[in-house]
Amino acid sequence: MRAALNALTDELKRLRSTGVKSVMVSEESLATLHKVVRARAQGAAAAVGVSEEAAVQGKKNVSAEPSSKTDAAPARYESPPRKFTVKPIAPETTATLPPPPKVVLPAGDKQTRWNALLQLVVDDPVCKAHVRPGKKVVLGVGSLDARIFFCGEAPGAEEEVQGEPFVGPAGQLLTKMIQGMGLKRSDVYIGNIMNWRPQLPLSANGVQIGNRPPSAEEMAYCLPYLKAQIEVVNPEIIVALGSTAVQGLFGSGTFKTLGEIRSQWKLFAEKPVMVTYHPSYILRNPTNRSKRAIWEDLLKVMERASLSISEKQQNFFLDK
Ligand code: URA
Repeated sequence: MRAALNALTDELKRLRSTGVKSVMVSEESLATLHKVVRARAQGAAAAVGVSEEAAVQGKKNVSAEPSSKTDAAPARYESPPRKFTVKPIAPETTATLPPPPKVVLPAGDKQTRWNALLQLVVDDPVCKAHVRPGKKVVLGVGSLDARIFFCGEAPGAEEEVQGEPFVGPAGQLLTKMIQGMGLKRSDVYIGNIMNWRPQLPLSANGVQIGNRPPSAEEMAYCLPYLKAQIEVVNPEIIVALGSTAVQGLFGSGTFKTLGEIRSQWKLFAEKPVMVTYHPSYILRNPTNRSKRAIWEDLLKVMERASLSISEKQQNFFLDK
């Protein structure tokens, strides 16, 4: 982890030396960074015999810090900010792309149409050009008869290796959320706004460290593939996970913070869309409060889908 953090620091220094003043960081990457910081805090805590929580929060009496500093949280252990303002993505982050593809699927049953769509995505020269050697483009996964369609942001490191969305830490959490609804992962459909992992310059050891949110142009390019998946699956409900998914579906600049529109029903491709946080939000804020916030949105989805809701499910994450 230390090596990854050092490589990231080197890359940021390199970017600064080329005049770059800011970089966009995705929710997934923030979650990963937070994990690294927590792990370092655990190390520090173990070294000085305090709890990890105390080390992360820089609480009083943490003897790792000189006594004059014990009242203030050490900067390097600060949690990332909890509220995100949605910023326009810098135009220089991607080269100009050709116009989005026109997707025409053959007649036939859902599986025939989905297979044809997969082939289109795999053969798409623009998708191919954005996938590094040995990595995969990623289309959605799940039941083609799903009533609920979860839509995330973009593949990350694990997803571009396996060619399947949501298989990393955020994906494991999403699977648990689905199970909490009384469903299996294979009962629903899980897709992304993007079919490739948005690229960042490689670190010195030839790997991409972290993720960046896709540019508006990248999202617009992949949108026809998402629409085609919605058309094939024909779900009753879409769940938009996080601000990038919402920007991808409804366009950038339609809201300032996700909190503004979270927990509301919107409409996309004539389907009701529930807007909620991305599971990586919970990875960064693993509190009952944030879990309950997403859970309340999922309860609304369950209600709309007429899924049975037990008292236990109704009360998830209400207790301390
Ligand atoms: N986060 C996403 O939004 N999508 C994935 O596929 C994985 C993580």
